[in-house]
Amino acid sequence: MQTNATDEQIQSVVARMVEIGFNVHRTTGTVQTILAGVGTPGQFDHKDFELFAGVAEVVRISSPYKLAGRSFRPEGTVVTFPNGVKVGGDEVVVMAGPCSVESREQIFTAASQVKAAGAKFLRGGAFKPRSSPYSFQGMGLDGLKLLREVGDTTGLLIISEVMEISQIEVMLPYVDCFQLGARNMQNFNLLREVGLVRKPVLLKRGIAATIEELLLSAEYVLSGGNYDVMLCERGIRTYETYTRNTMDISAIPVIKHLSHLPILGDPSHGTGRRDMVPAMARASVAAGADGLLIEVHPNPDKAVSDGAQSLFPQQFSKLMDELRIIAPAVGRTI
Ligand code: PEP
Ligand code: MN
Repeated sequence: MQTNATDEQIQSVVARMVEIGFNVHRTTGTVQTILAGVGTPGQFDHKDFELFAGVAEVVRISSPYKLAGRSFRPEGTVVTFPNGVKVGGDEVVVMAGPCSVESREQIFTAASQVKAAGAKFLRGGAFKPRSSPYSFQGMGLDGLKLLREVGDTTGLLIISEVMEISQIEVMLPYVDCFQLGARNMQNFNLLREVGLVRKPVLLKRGIAATIEELLLSAEYVLSGGNYDVMLCERGIRTYETYTRNTMDISAIPVIKHLSHLPILGDPSHGTGRRDMVPAMARASVAAGADGLLIEVHPNPDKAVSDGAQSLFPQQFSKLMDELRIIAPAVGRTI
C-alpha cells in the first residue's frame, strides 16, 4: 500500500486513468488515496476508485469528448440563470432580438416587442463578425451598456457575442451569457478562456463543422471548468444556394443523443430568409430543441445587419403562439 506518492506519481496514475477511458474528479488534493490498494497504473478497476477519499466520481467514458458526452451526465445539463430561467429543463427558452444593437431606440423597442411575445432573452451583437471589413462592425462598449440597461429595465436576460479574448473581461459586467459565433467555433484559445469564466456560454456550430467537431469545441470550454455550455445549430454550408445555410434539423436529435448539453436552434442564420424562419423554428422545437435563437427587428428593412432574415415583431408574436401549440406535443412548455 502506497501512502506517500509524489505529485509525479499521482499525475502519471491520473494520466493513465484518463488514457484508458476514465474521467477522474477530485474533490480535494488527496489523490494519494487512489494509489492505496490499486497497485500500479494499468491494474485498476472501476470500482476501486469510488472507494477512496478525494475521488468524487469515476465514470468510464469512451467518446473523444469525455466531458461533453452524454455518459458524463446522462440526466442532461440544465443551465440556470440568476433570475431562475433554466435552459435544458421542461421549458423551451426563446432568445430573440436584432442581429446588431444599432441605437437606444432600436434596442429598447425590440426588447419590449420580444418580451411581450414571450422571449426570455434579448439577443443583440455589440461586436459583429462581418464578412466585409467595410460593413458595420457593431457599437462595441456603447452597445453593451445599452444591452445591460434594457436588460435591467425589462428583466430580459442578455446574450451577446464575444469575438476575442480581450472582450471577455469587457463584456462580463454587461451580459448574462456569452455567445460564441460560428466563425469562432474553432478559435481554441478563445474557447479555453471562456472555459475559465463562470458565466454561461452558447456555442454555435461552425459554418462547416461536423457535430463531433462542435462537441470537441464544447470540450475545450468544459475542460476549463465552465460547465454551463449550451450548443446551437445555426445551419451549415452545403451546395444548396437557395437558403443562406442549410439548417441541419437532424443535428438536434443527434446532439441530444450524443451529449448532455442543451441544444438550441437558430432558424434565422439557418435559412437567411425571413419567410423560412417560422417553419424551421417550429421544426426545431418538434425535433426536441431546448431553445431558439431568433432575429427580430422593429423595422427589418432598415436593419444594419441580417435584415432579410429578421422577423417583423408581429411575425415573431404569431410564431410564439404556434410554438405554444407544438411544445406540449413533445412534452415541453414555452
Ligand atoms: C449572430 O448570431 O448574429 C451571428 C453572427 O451568428 P453566427 O455566428 O451563427 O453566424
Ligand atoms: Mn445575425
